[in-house]
Amino acid sequence: MTARTGRHFLHIPGPSPVPERVMRAMDMPVIDHRGPEFGQLGREVLEGCRAIFQTEGPVVIYPSSGTGAWESAIVNTLSSGDTVLMFETGHFATLWRQMAARWGIQVDFVPGDWRRGADPAVVEAKLAEDRAHRIKAVMVIHNETSTGATSRIAEIRAAIDRASHPALLLVDTISGLGSAEYRHDEWGVDVAVSCSQKGLMLPPGLGFTAISEKALAASKTNTLPRSYWDWAEMLKPNANGYFPYTPATTLLYGLREAIAMMREEGLPELFARHRRLAAATRAAVQGWGLEVLCQEPAEYSPVLTAVVMPHGHDADAFRKVVLEQFDMSLGAGLAKLAGKVFRIGHLGECNELTLMGALSGVEMGLKAADVPHQRGGVLAAMTSLQSGRDD
Ligand SMILES: *Cc1c(COP(=O)(O)O)cnc(C)c1O
Repeated sequence: MTARTGRHFLHIPGPSPVPERVMRAMDMPVIDHRGPEFGQLGREVLEGCRAIFQTEGPVVIYPSSGTGAWESAIVNTLSSGDTVLMFETGHFATLWRQMAARWGIQVDFVPGDWRRGADPAVVEAKLAEDRAHRIKAVMVIHNETSTGATSRIAEIRAAIDRASHPALLLVDTISGLGSAEYRHDEWGVDVAVSCSQKGLMLPPGLGFTAISEKALAASKTNTLPRSYWDWAEMLKPNANGYFPYTPATTLLYGLREAIAMMREEGLPELFARHRRLAAATRAAVQGWGLEVLCQEPAEYSPVLTAVVMPHGHDADAFRKVVLEQFDMSLGAGLAKLAGKVFRIGHLGECNELTLMGALSGVEMGLKAADVPHQRGGVLAAMTSLQSGRDD
């Protein structure tokens, strides 16, 4: 390895770079998690999480990855043999489906081409057909991190309501929360799943579920077994800011700081910044004469952009050149997209100039790796940023 100067450019769509303020906030001695000082921290972060999810209801924080919080959503609301409706939006939808199937859930998995989000019209049609109310939940990925396409959660909620169907709405906003607009209560989501290392700008290690009253009621009668993930066990001590087992204290200090940063910026401003950075990235892709993977403009992700490699060129070979020459990590294509796309993360602690640095690295990398492209992507991105475009 050659010695590197300056900062590594971590431009994968999670984990995202951890701001210095958050790093400093975590530089703390570990405290007694049953003592009074912890109770204060616990109450602050639990309240702060409600503000970020935009909910009045409880948010549970696990020492876990996002995958753990996925499991929490399933085992607290569903029963073996239940049917759920899911959409093949990409790799993460496929993995969540696999998990549900392992818990004995029957998944009606609507096929997709990995280039758009879940279709609200299909949600409505499927639920309207289901007069016996066999479908217990609609499970959707808010921001499909493998493709850079979002699903329109508010429209999916409206589709469920039009069908007058009682199914729960379970949403994975693991890579959406803190970057893409998310309104838990207003959108009538029953369980939202997230984790620390994407839009929340923290290291990996925290998983979250935001829970509606309807989901809480379901958790009292569903029959899947659980222990570590049991909401009831968590919510009791959470009422006073405490946890039933040892929480990730150090990460919670970081979470408190990250929430403070998001509140200082303001959620509407934060969402607008992500949209502007995403629009500039797409302008760059267009400038290079390359293709954005997402084909539905209303569903472009503000979090990341997946770029289709020209035919006959390997995205991983290109990413290797970028890492070696410019010390920048770009996201790999996952599963069936391996080698076919690379992903540019523009989430969390990212601003105009960090984005321009990243896009310069991509443009220089395309040249260095002999990938056919036009120059001018970086210029197009600057023009987009200076125009204030966010669509
Ligand atoms: C990252 C991610 C996950 C998995 O989270 P882990 O922390 O790796 O378990 C699930 N869904 C989406 C949409 C993600 O982006």
